[in-house]
Amino acid sequence: MGSVGSRARTMDVIKGEMPFEEEEEFVLGKSNNSTKNNKDVVGLVLVDILNGFCTVGSGNLAPTKPNKQIESMVKEAARLSKLFCEKKWPVFVFLDSHHPNKPEPPYPPHCLIGSGEEDLVPALKWLEKESNVTIKRKDCFDGFIGSMEKDGSNTFAKWVKAKEVKVILVVGICTDICVLDFVCSTLSARNIGMVPPLEDVVVYSQGCATFDLPMDIAQTVKGALPHPQESLHHIGLYMAKSRGAKIVKTVTLGSSK
Ligand SMILES: [Zn+2]
Repeated sequence: MGSVGSRARTMDVIKGEMPFEEEEEFVLGKSNNSTKNNKDVVGLVLVDILNGFCTVGSGNLAPTKPNKQIESMVKEAARLSKLFCEKKWPVFVFLDSHHPNKPEPPYPPHCLIGSGEEDLVPALKWLEKESNVTIKRKDCFDGFIGSMEKDGSNTFAKWVKAKEVKVILVVGICTDICVLDFVCSTLSARNIGMVPPLEDVVVYSQGCATFDLPMDIAQTVKGALPHPQESLHHIGLYMAKSRGAKIVKTVTLGSSK
């Protein structure tokens, strides 16, 4: 099909003009995860892997048909979650959750509290019961901003401090929206000493996804911007990298000794 060919060419141009290096492998367990031994603690951060963004037919911003990039993101997030929970390593979960009378422009209503859209996808629902998991509901794109409490404290920064997290491994959706905003704010916060002892922000490319709204469909929706999935996934990772995040291609479990 012509449009498929033209999309592939667009991707070639974007990747050609905005290349970035991905580190091949991020090995957990090597440097990871014993505060007792003073080793570097890696915390897993899941961004918005909920029904309203990932489960087919689950609301205004959910995929309308099965989507490969989203499916493989969920699969990788579930794999890493299982691994972290088996080891009782720290996990922080952001869930986009909105009150019905408080819109989030420019998006249509989504993830309204009580709708079920605001809950973890079936493959991750079990995380709610895990003792090493901290869940933070937020009503804005940026999880760092969404973690600010009325008393001036920041729930995410508190978690980093309490668990002595030195590295966060970020997965979720959307690569170019909530994942990117959170990564950028966290890097700014790190640079001015707001999230000690955090040192590194690592984004797992295969563990992230964004949505697809091709031009021909966007043109039929009033006010919608086209949102080509592959291109914006790449650009999201590129922007994260340009702010100082590390982008990794694979995440594996090494020896914990
Ligand atoms: Zn939202």
